[in-house]
Amino acid sequence: MLAAGVVRGQQGIHSFELPLPRIEAPDNVLVHVREVGLDGTDYGIVQHKLQDIAEGRDSMAMGHEMVGVVREVGASVESVAPGDAVTVTVRRGCGMCEPCLHNQSDMCMTGLYTERGIHKLDGYLTEYVVDQEQYVVKVPPEVVPIAVFTEPLSIAEKAVEQIKVIQSRLPWTCPHPTHDFSSKEWGRCKNALVLGAGPLGLLATALLRLDNVQTWTADVLPEDSAKARLVTQTGACYVDARDKSAKELVEFCSLEGTLNMVIEASGAAGTALDLVNHLARSSIYVMTGIPREGVLSQIDVAQLIRKIVRENQVIVGSVNSNRRHFEAALSHIGDIESGFDGMLGRMITHRFTLGGIKDAFSVPDPDRIKTVIEIAS
Ligand code: BGC
Ligand code: ZN
Repeated sequence: MLAAGVVRGQQGIHSFELPLPRIEAPDNVLVHVREVGLDGTDYGIVQHKLQDIAEGRDSMAMGHEMVGVVREVGASVESVAPGDAVTVTVRRGCGMCEPCLHNQSDMCMTGLYTERGIHKLDGYLTEYVVDQEQYVVKVPPEVVPIAVFTEPLSIAEKAVEQIKVIQSRLPWTCPHPTHDFSSKEWGRCKNALVLGAGPLGLLATALLRLDNVQTWTADVLPEDSAKARLVTQTGACYVDARDKSAKELVEFCSLEGTLNMVIEASGAAGTALDLVNHLARSSIYVMTGIPREGVLSQIDVAQLIRKIVRENQVIVGSVNSNRRHFEAALSHIGDIESGFDGMLGRMITHRFTLGGIKDAFSVPDPDRIKTVIEIAS
């Protein structure tokens, strides 16, 4: 079958043949891949030659955001059946640490995990994949057309979950004394700034808006850009951050002293760090963007540490997601699409077939939001 990914010793993205995967254990599920989304990690692997191919292999199929249809299941599989739409998670645990042994490989302690399409394991830019039932998540039929966003939305779900879990240290008395984060009340009277209006920034913005958080989302694009319009569709404010320092950004949004949460989804290391100086007391800053290039900065480290300590601030990194976040994503994805004027469908700016994979990786950055590879209909 046809696959696309990286080839050892070679630059760029390539097509190659892989053997058809087969059901080999009772818990195996064979999935016919329907659509695969590309993200910054994929572009990084291809453009910066960050290949991580398993030893003994010459290639690795890429792609880690997918939706497909179950074609065959092993004898013990109960949660999905042939014909069901599904998505498959990304990370496979190290098999040794406590988080990995408790279905939380996103929090792996050894770093010896693998990831489909990213670290060592073949991904989903292929016609068929086989995986264990525990990694296969059923997709409700009504959200299949937008389910290629489940994985990136699961990353945003984890980031927002970090905010809710860590900020449970606060009484959250506004407007009701409640620690119930399942209620949408937790977000009222809280202000958030999302850095970056790429797919992850947009999805994080949408989740915050579903929870009634007052949200500002910034990117280095004009206000009439497609990304800016998507931000405003959620009821968040778009901020053009071109020529704005972190200080100017916060002043522009009138968030001095009231910036309760930041989600960094741009990978713009300089602004990301500067913004720490403008956090409100008892606030939280979740970093999800992974800067690619080195950025040197001169800062007064003592001043920074003083502020973080005196103001009870939390800066937390968040990467990957586990099955629970995929399920949360699927529970919200329909509300995002219907509540924010079809924003997910509109985020798909480009579609290619597997045969056109080289063109898919050549779309210039400012034009694309989400590129989807159609593998089967
Ligand atoms: C993926 C994550 C993955 C991370 C680092 C992201 O693009 O969505 O699942 O853990 O890259 O490899
Ligand atoms: Zn582990």
